[in-house]
Amino acid sequence: MSETPCVLAADVGGTNLRVALVSAAGDTLQQSECPTPREGDAEELIEALSSTASKLIEGRSESMPRAFGVALAALVNPRNGTVYSSPNLPQLDGTEIARLVSERVGVPVIVENDATAAAIGEHWLGAAKGIDNVICLTIGTGVGGGLILDGRPYRGVGGTAGELGHLCVEPEGHPCGCGSRGCIEQYASATAIVRIASELQSERSSTLKSIPEFSARDVYNAAVKGDEVALATFSKMGRYLGAAIADLINALNPELIIIGGGGAGSWDQFIDHTWTEIRARAFSAPVDAVTIVRAALGGEAGLLGAAKVALDRTPA
Ligand SMILES: [Zn+2]
Repeated sequence: MSETPCVLAADVGGTNLRVALVSAAGDTLQQSECPTPREGDAEELIEALSSTASKLIEGRSESMPRAFGVALAALVNPRNGTVYSSPNLPQLDGTEIARLVSERVGVPVIVENDATAAAIGEHWLGAAKGIDNVICLTIGTGVGGGLILDGRPYRGVGGTAGELGHLCVEPEGHPCGCGSRGCIEQYASATAIVRIASELQSERSSTLKSIPEFSARDVYNAAVKGDEVALATFSKMGRYLGAAIADLINALNPELIIIGGGGAGSWDQFIDHTWTEIRARAFSAPVDAVTIVRAALGGEAGLLGAAKVALDRTPA
């Protein structure tokens, strides 16, 4: 019987850390999850990641994983396996994470930005299968971006390309965690939905006033019921998102744009506003060529993308 090749893959977010053994066909064979150590130093996080991975392959009699792909909520350099910076995992700033994890787990480690990994995952097994020019936007607490250009992940000269959440849509706008102002992340993320609704409800009546600390989900539910403030919030969010996407369409002429993350759940409330803004701003030829869809892999995209990166870097 021939051995089935497999790899280790991890998705390290600000809240949870998940590691899995993934087959060459993209099947998750085994997985383990734990909370991401947030308070401690880099060593603590590297140890949690390494030991979770090591436990998955301990005593394994079948083929051992050939490599370990790690998707991180951070600005990373996949070429040398270091972290430039991460607002969500600041203890990792400047860490040679690939080398340190590889020394403990005993397999080569490749790091990838989590949103780029999500784009790779969707291109491999999800909504972008077989499509070569794809932009992936992940709307969650922030807004992440990933690019597949001419069939390959686009990382730029230092590995940091695709930070689409920090496209500026309002030069004097709301301050962003990246140090700039008016980034699309400040107008289209779940965090932004709550802020915009809070600002709008001070001027108008809204059912949201009865919820002490409402969430983006509450704003969505209110919009579905016709709440004026919630509807105005998604109109604003959708239009800002459309302005950013119009720039991306003009710049890159993609065939497909994928919107994923928890924020994609509000799709029916914002997408018409997004399209209106795109049509008002971008050239019609690239607009006619593009489709916008929801992500297909949900929370699995980053992990599967990390697995694909590991499979691609190692000979079969
Ligand atoms: Zn920013």
